[in-house]
Amino acid sequence: MNAHPEIVPSLVDHIKQTLVGLKMPRAIEILDVIVRRLERGEITAIEAIDVLLAEELTLRENRRIKIALMMARLSTIKTLAGFDFSFQPSLDKNRIMALAELEFINRSEVVHLLGPPGTGKSHLSLALGVQAVKAGRSVYFTPLSDLVSALAKAEREGTLREKIRFFCRFALLIVDEIGYLPVIPGGGNMFFQLVNARYEKGAMILTSNRGFAEWGEVFGDPVVATALLDRLLHHAIVIQIEGSSYRLRQHADLVPEHIRSNALVQPSTTATPTKRRGRPPKNGGADQANG
Ligand code: ADP
Ligand code: MG
Repeated sequence: MNAHPEIVPSLVDHIKQTLVGLKMPRAIEILDVIVRRLERGEITAIEAIDVLLAEELTLRENRRIKIALMMARLSTIKTLAGFDFSFQPSLDKNRIMALAELEFINRSEVVHLLGPPGTGKSHLSLALGVQAVKAGRSVYFTPLSDLVSALAKAEREGTLREKIRFFCRFALLIVDEIGYLPVIPGGGNMFFQLVNARYEKGAMILTSNRGFAEWGEVFGDPVVATALLDRLLHHAIVIQIEGSSYRLRQHADLVPEHIRSNALVQPSTTATPTKRRGRPPKNGGADQANG
């Protein structure tokens, strides 16, 4: 009974042909090794099947993730494991780890990451995007300027509706760098149309170095900014990072104090999700989100 099984070579060839037909490249690759281990009695037949299938599944899963990351435009892969929370003590690690559970996507909430340059807003948004892709959610990452350019181009070509529909397809839309560059004329309006189309239907992560009170200036139109914030602060999670730039950490002494400490976002505490629909706050929004 304990004698090692004899494996008929023609049967192994037949299995290989079957695996070719099933398009299982990883299983084909490791079949001989598994057969040898089986012959040596290192694994049982059921374990051999398990290893063969598990290896193939891992390959497929990795391939799926790689393609999905590309489709999501998550070009720079960042991880939560690679984020040094001790460098940003104002940031509550537990809140970020709770976001990584991705419930906010199911609830179609909007996560705002606010803070001065270099405090890890893009890193965290990318890392949450990667997490969502791994969990099988559809994600799209874009800086605001690229998003607005794409919408403007579509409008010129008469395809704005289709473009907005395209950006509504993703379970999570990440819009990075709100506030660094002035938005082109009409851009705020088109962004509003997109935000309105996604409102209560899809989750977003927005990053900005500017307080909500400055959005009128950012979008060049206070009316549009108010309408935007009205949608974007309802069902919102506001996370404020107050700290120094990770980019400048080794050269902080070379940077003039007035630049180093120029926290562009108004200070406030981190906030909890808000379920209240109301006027956009005048003071940066986090207080409202606290209530
Ligand atoms: P922001 O978007 O707020 O301007 P980034 O997320 O682009 O800042 O961070 C700048 C660089 O520093 C990136 O390479 C990022 O990975 C890195 N970085 C920022 N904060 C941290 C941190 N706390 N731990 C590890 N790397 C960080
Ligand atoms: Mg950034």
